[in-house]
Amino acid sequence: MAYETRFCTNCSTELQWITATEDSGNVARLRCQACGWTHWGNPTPVLAAVVEGDDGRVLLARNALWQEGVFGLITGFMEAGESPEAGICREVLEETGLKVKALRLLSCSEFLRMNQVLIAYHVRVDGRPEDVKLSPELLEYRWQTAEESLCWPAGTGYALAEWIKQKGFEPRFGAFRPGQNPEPDPARWPVKYWSEDPRFVVAPALD
Ligand SMILES: [Zn+2]
Repeated sequence: MAYETRFCTNCSTELQWITATEDSGNVARLRCQACGWTHWGNPTPVLAAVVEGDDGRVLLARNALWQEGVFGLITGFMEAGESPEAGICREVLEETGLKVKALRLLSCSEFLRMNQVLIAYHVRVDGRPEDVKLSPELLEYRWQTAEESLCWPAGTGYALAEWIKQKGFEPRFGAFRPGQNPEPDPARWPVKYWSEDPRFVVAPALD
């Protein structure tokens, strides 16, 4: 179900589209006429992990809501009061039972359709492959090598592709749903940084 914000979270008055002057100029947003509260609609930070075991294989899991054969990265929402790094360590432990022993930022990208920011890490975990204990929201898991992994052309699939590339292999993409375009979006892959992305006005990378 898709939710929308219709009432002020402060005083429960119905919100109106009101244009007001902000730092960037005049902007129409849902605002409260009674108390002045503004619905900013900021993106939600989502954390993702390419979980690598000691044997160099990656752990993928299937969500209970997904169709058979569809596997993805370990993901979760960042919670109040934690850092992104602490959040992904918590998510990996909660969802797989594995303790993260080292991590590195892999990619940070917008996910406009879902109004999310995707922060993806490459993490190394302790434990044997058979030590995985999935949370109830995950149905099954599998370990696979970078070479044999197929990436999906959406969100976290590009983070997996970036890990595969850093492992020295050419990522391969494929459709994970019937009718899905199997080709990666040229605006999303190879992972674009700063001024290389034609959709946004951004300064070039600092050397
Ligand atoms: Zn209000």
